[in-house]
Amino acid sequence: MRYYIFSLIVFIATLRTTAQDLDRKIEFPDVDSFLTLKCDLHIHTVFSDGHVWPTIRVSEAVKDGLDAISLTEHIENQPWKEDIPHPDRNRSYEIAKKAAKPHNLIVIHGTEITRDMPPGHANALFVKDVNELVVEDSITAYQKARDQGAFIFWNHPNWIQQQKDGIPKLSTLHDSLIKSDLLHGIEVVNDLTFSEEALRIAIENNLTVLGTSDIHGLVDYQYRIAEGGHRPICLVFAKERSEEAIREALFAGRTVTWFDNILAGKEDNMKMLVDASLSFKTKGYIGDTDVLEIEATNVSDAKFMLHNISVYDFQKNTDIIEILPQSKKILQVITSRNQGEKIPLEFNILNAVIGYKKQFKVSVPM
Ligand SMILES: [Zn+2]
Ligand SMILES: [Zn+2]
Repeated sequence: MRYYIFSLIVFIATLRTTAQDLDRKIEFPDVDSFLTLKCDLHIHTVFSDGHVWPTIRVSEAVKDGLDAISLTEHIENQPWKEDIPHPDRNRSYEIAKKAAKPHNLIVIHGTEITRDMPPGHANALFVKDVNELVVEDSITAYQKARDQGAFIFWNHPNWIQQQKDGIPKLSTLHDSLIKSDLLHGIEVVNDLTFSEEALRIAIENNLTVLGTSDIHGLVDYQYRIAEGGHRPICLVFAKERSEEAIREALFAGRTVTWFDNILAGKEDNMKMLVDASLSFKTKGYIGDTDVLEIEATNVSDAKFMLHNISVYDFQKNTDIIEILPQSKKILQVITSRNQGEKIPLEFNILNAVIGYKKQFKVSVPM
């Protein structure tokens, strides 16, 4: 009997773990003609100044349901090297790549070129040999990375340790890096920070929008996963689920970042994501009244915060309406306000940012 009770407890515990693991997997729908790949492309381990072994990064990514990660160890910041000597700077990648294979997780070979501002810190992805980038001059490091085919992005341009006012500024050096094909993207989100100014720089200079965790400790602690939090990720709209397709999408700028329920990206990309995630269906008028029921469906993990900017009022809501993750909500629209004209119902999505102080707008035909 005791054995059976013990087995039952183990069985229930297993169920619980499975449910929790399923719950934390980040889900966004595929868009238009692209797959939506969930990527965290800025991560550290003990091979630079992080606190965990690379295999832990793989486990965390698998739990979060990610498609791809990149372990981007600092080239110049190696505080644990006396305790963990590793003359080969590719080891972190190699260990993670091996651990990721059974899980079908894509591991992209990357590194962080870590310099004073300007140019500050930058991640180089899709590199072949990080040892070659251990050089004195920062621009030489960018050039060597580029020679290996790297996609390079500016990290945390709003980081107050390098930019006291928290406002990213494009220096003449950054400008020349962009013009020399040595800088292709910028972090709009890094760890616990979001920068609308960085989004403005991305749009004005045609840089790809990135959002990353830059995790050094544990994802579960930093983003309070047990309390329903999530790590910042970059949604990459790729032609297929492969490293090469992610590379193509990053160079083409097809991304949206998701951080603390904020979605940020360029308007075209945001449109693809919102169109796939949020839909509205007319259910009909209530009896012979002028009140029309519209069902909003959200098939993403983001909570959409809608602000009504049209002429209509609602029976059950103010002008601020939340559509919870993976859920449906019935809106009761008082239609007599349109005075017989076919005026669309329009919302600004307060948490879908497409520019400096600019939100994405959705329109529902009436
Ligand atoms: Zn950094
Ligand atoms: Zn970093």
